[in-house]
Amino acid sequence: MERDIETEARERAGRRDDAVRGAVEQGLLGPDAAVVGLLDVTGIRRSAAALRAAFDAVAAPGTPVLHAFAVKATPLVPVLRLLHEAGIGAEVASPGELALARAAGLPTSRTVLDAPAKTPAELREALDLGIAVNADNPQELARLDALVRSAPAPTRSPLGLRVNPQIGGGTIGATSTATATSKFGVALRDEGAHEWVVQAFLDRPWLTRLHAHTGSQGIPLPLLARGVAEAYALAEEINARAGRRQVDTLDIGGGLSVDFASEVAAPTYERYARVLAEEVPGLFDGRYGLVTEFGRSLLARHGTVVARVEYAKSAGGRRIAVTHAGVQVATRTVYAPGAWPLRIAAYDAKGHPKPGPDVVQDVAGPACFSGDLLAEGRALPLLEQGDYAAALDTGAYYFAHHYAYNSLARPGIYGFRADGPGGVAFATVREPQTVAQVVAESGGAHTDALTTLGTPGSR
Ligand SMILES: *Cc1c(COP(=O)(O)O)cnc(C)c1O
Repeated sequence: MERDIETEARERAGRRDDAVRGAVEQGLLGPDAAVVGLLDVTGIRRSAAALRAAFDAVAAPGTPVLHAFAVKATPLVPVLRLLHEAGIGAEVASPGELALARAAGLPTSRTVLDAPAKTPAELREALDLGIAVNADNPQELARLDALVRSAPAPTRSPLGLRVNPQIGGGTIGATSTATATSKFGVALRDEGAHEWVVQAFLDRPWLTRLHAHTGSQGIPLPLLARGVAEAYALAEEINARAGRRQVDTLDIGGGLSVDFASEVAAPTYERYARVLAEEVPGLFDGRYGLVTEFGRSLLARHGTVVARVEYAKSAGGRRIAVTHAGVQVATRTVYAPGAWPLRIAAYDAKGHPKPGPDVVQDVAGPACFSGDLLAEGRALPLLEQGDYAAALDTGAYYFAHHYAYNSLARPGIYGFRADGPGGVAFATVREPQTVAQVVAESGGAHTDALTTLGTPGSR
């Protein structure tokens, strides 16, 4: 049974307040460290435990279930290590993400490679390591054919095929992956595709998994469940035609949404697992192993971007807090505020929650374009110079997804535990980027590269 979600939410908000105050008191946040990311270790552990418990409650005893965290959501080695310790594997989609998972100590048997554009070298490495691979399309399957054929020994990698059930999108186009024209997987409803997929399995005894990820934020629960139901039905058909249990594992992807408008997490893993058990009962009867790939729903709630208010001003009757968090840490929110709104919390200069009354104001970032706003026209306790603005629920797809506009440095990220007896303890997850590092990654080692480049004839 999951803990009461309202209690959970209240405790999480309390830990966050403690962490903001602790970060100011301990100097992690201040005039010279004007923006940081904070990660709630207790919260991450609880979400991992809730995910495991939700599926354990509906799956037949002994069903192999691998919960593989979608690394793209929070690509930080210490986070992957924490999740690994909590029994969660890794879903990776690039050589960089695979390297992060390996650096975190994840065994290859708990790593899954999905990516829409894997090179032959990446596929070969994955097969050499025994990492599970989901092929995206017929051309990739042909590459796997060649690798399987030429391998000196049978690969340990479980191999699967990603399908797109084409059941439609959610509220955000950019994160909907099961539309008719999505770039991901084999589009099952295209003419001849369904039969092609079945035959592809019958021709390849080593193809044993089906993968469907219907989308991310904005996909309603019933649509997620339908995507899984379609993959399940296809697996049943393949196995019936093969006369054996060829498809032995279903990878149901991630995609559970987070309610960014409220502190209370809904829907929960418990509810999703129950909906799946009702809609696709055969999924959990022990005949299939399961892989999940949740990202946002595991981490979003447990991260907070906190930024100092450098200046407070007003223009045209609107109050504006100019902070150090904008497009560089909240890129999606700044460019698509309608799809990606964030709650903002106001703290005073000592890191204590500010009392009201609420005043309508803009919370702006530091970048040099007028649309760099974390929140526009938001009613909040008035943010004043030296206060702090916190962008909540930013533990996934935010502060580890830096956008280098204006050469703004990547903030430091600190994990915290705020539930111990001795106040708040912090650990560095990622050092803040230095200005020297910004110069180095901006071609600093090649200052004269262009001025000394001769014309073709002058060499
Ligand atoms: C992004 C992605 C996920 C994770 O999605 P969330 O919405 O963060 O849970 C899982 N699987 C695949 C293939 C993805 O591309």
